[in-house]
Amino acid sequence: MTKAIEPVDNLLDWLRDAHAMEQQAERMLKAQSERLEHYPKLKARIDKHIVETEGQQRRLQECIERLGGSPSTLKDIAGKLMAFGQAVGGMTMSDEVVKGAMSGYVFENVEIAAYTVLVEAANYAGDELTAKACSATLKEEIAMAEWLKDHLPEITRAFLARAEAPDLEAKR
Ligand code: MG
Ligand code: FE
Repeated sequence: MTKAIEPVDNLLDWLRDAHAMEQQAERMLKAQSERLEHYPKLKARIDKHIVETEGQQRRLQECIERLGGSPSTLKDIAGKLMAFGQAVGGMTMSDEVVKGAMSGYVFENVEIAAYTVLVEAANYAGDELTAKACSATLKEEIAMAEWLKDHLPEITRAFLARAEAPDLEAKR
């Protein structure tokens, strides 16, 4: 016999996963922004998303607490460690700006998937406030993913042009 799990318990679990994901997002975005020097538009968009990401964490925290839970510290720590590894790995690449923008696009799409599931789970559990909060975040993730996709060609061209110039640093 398998044990029945209430929708709200799965919802709470997924909100905690999302909180850990946003901690990881914050670390990666901050590591990228701190290193970018020659790509001011990308840096500005990342900085805007860092502020959004901090708001997303607060939204999740509110939802988790309203449901009587607390964010999972263990998952948060795992996410931070993973972000640290990814950030350090990225720094050794001669094309880190391009790889960073690509990874950012992938990460935003993971977030889009997570919040799509959360909105549905919140509606299923009858938790309108959580559905609203996660819809608001979902919009921000979609906007960030679209910005990155739309600007990947421009970032690629700028990188290639700097790389072929004799005295310019291209990687960041
Ligand atoms: Mg996010
Ligand atoms: Fe995001």
